[in-house]
Amino acid sequence: MRLALVGFLLATAALVSASVAPADSPKANELGRIMILEYHKIDYPEERWTRTPENFRRDLETLHARGYRLQSLNSLVEGRITVPAGTTPVVLTFDDSSAGQFRYLERNGAPEIDPKSGVGVLEAFIRENPDFGRAATFFVLPGAKPPNNLFNQPALEGRKLRWLVEHGYELGNHTLWHANLGKYDEATVRAQLAEAQVWVQRHVPQYRLRTLALPHGVYPRDVTWALSGTAKGTTYRHEAILMVAGGAAPSPFARSFDPVRLPRIQAVERDLRHWLSHFDRTPGDRYISDGNPDTLTIPANKRDRLRTDLPTNQQIIEY
Ligand SMILES: [Zn+2]
Repeated sequence: MRLALVGFLLATAALVSASVAPADSPKANELGRIMILEYHKIDYPEERWTRTPENFRRDLETLHARGYRLQSLNSLVEGRITVPAGTTPVVLTFDDSSAGQFRYLERNGAPEIDPKSGVGVLEAFIRENPDFGRAATFFVLPGAKPPNNLFNQPALEGRKLRWLVEHGYELGNHTLWHANLGKYDEATVRAQLAEAQVWVQRHVPQYRLRTLALPHGVYPRDVTWALSGTAKGTTYRHEAILMVAGGAAPSPFARSFDPVRLPRIQAVERDLRHWLSHFDRTPGDRYISDGNPDTLTIPANKRDRLRTDLPTNQQIIEY
């Protein structure tokens, strides 16, 4: 049985390296780490919290060329990695719902997505490279002051949220108006989280915010306040809490995976370059999918790194 599996894997690896996988690391390793990239403004000029549309496009080109494919955050948290065999999942997140992330322009009386906005750049790239996949999570601020109030076009904000959800993107909680959760009492923390969901549901009924990105990366005094509860007549539940830094995230199947403390990588030139070359130099640290969400393919010598409480019933294949 074991021999048959090995033979099968070798055949798969050979097949994969011929088509999509990076030649130097064709073998699946579903205990490798995953980058959750964190964007803020997509705008001009390039600075600490701003990526230009051109540089954002270049990031997508680089990721695609190096064998990364878009992975939904909610699926990652569920332990359902959906990218093709031989490729590496990467998660895109956008914080603060600033105007340049998603802008409509008026063309012949009808709103059209600005090709220079984050969503415009991403959609154009996906159209040209459909094998890249389509996923990103927008951590929006429904009650913030302009220009962070749901992308700063009030008449179109509902249309934007619905468009995102209908096109396979995810919305996440970032509090109502970017409250520093470490500064407030329990009632205020819970109200900030519940109200963000209420505001989003006004535009997208029933939509549940399943993940929370902490404003300023600050946890409330008691983390359970952020995980689930009821306030303002609504119930919220976050399956993962994302930090603002911390590097690449552990595999969702690794013992070290902690959904309450998911690290991210800020998508700025220096950090991106650092992590891309890290994974080039240390391919064994990089998550490589086996292409089948129902199986978990891992090097036998890393078995002790597996979670004992796997989130799903995957069949484990060692090599
Ligand atoms: Zn923020």
